[in-house]
Amino acid sequence: MSKYGRYRFWLDGGYDRDQVGDCEYHPDHQWIVIRVGDVHPGYRWPDEKMAICKGCFVPRCGHTTEPNPCLLPRHHEGEHES
Ligand SMILES: [Zn+2]
Ligand SMILES: [Zn+2]
Repeated sequence: MSKYGRYRFWLDGGYDRDQVGDCEYHPDHQWIVIRVGDVHPGYRWPDEKMAICKGCFVPRCGHTTEPNPCLLPRHHEGEHES
């Protein structure tokens, strides 16, 4: 099984909050930038970059193009953090 096959990979369709809470890095998720086409074959915009946690693969709230991105999991509750 591939590294990315251990968990469901999330694009923007929401995610399992329990799984994110169980992440070995929670609450300080470790962000890596990936090319979407590398982990999601057939995705419409394969060259799009995403920041995801290397432990649970939750997408980051702040986008990769933001100079000062919010460092919380996407769709988090409360205020943005940067
Ligand atoms: Zn995580
Ligand atoms: Zn945020």
